[in-house]
Amino acid sequence: MSTKKTRTEVETHDQIIAEVRRNRERREKTYREWALKIYPWICARCGREFTGKRLRELTVHHKDHNHDYNPPDGSNWELLCLYCHDNEHSWHQDEDWYNEATPGDEQEPPSTHKPFAGLDALLKDKK
Ligand SMILES: [Zn+2]
Ligand SMILES: [Zn+2]
Repeated sequence: MSTKKTRTEVETHDQIIAEVRRNRERREKTYREWALKIYPWICARCGREFTGKRLRELTVHHKDHNHDYNPPDGSNWELLCLYCHDNEHSWHQDEDWYNEATPGDEQEPPSTHKPFAGLDALLKDKK
């Protein structure tokens, strides 16, 4: 029962959280980049155009609200600005968008999270 052990546990826990976050960010980045390649940089709701730094405000929405479903043809994606995306989710309350914004809510879905295999295959294909 040393404080050292406790600290290690805390660090491990932090590392896991960091890793989960990294994975999520990486995954989001990947499909977002892909979506930005195949779609014009315009919000599908309000029609605003995004370029340069403001491109950060353009996010990928999943039409079926399952962000593990990422068909490489983009048929499940919609580019939405932060505001429209928020709107889109405020009445669905699904985890896609609110994941980050609900501290204390430890409803991280079980290990069903799969980095979209289809996209990988297609990337390989195109090369
Ligand atoms: Zn918009
Ligand atoms: Zn969304």
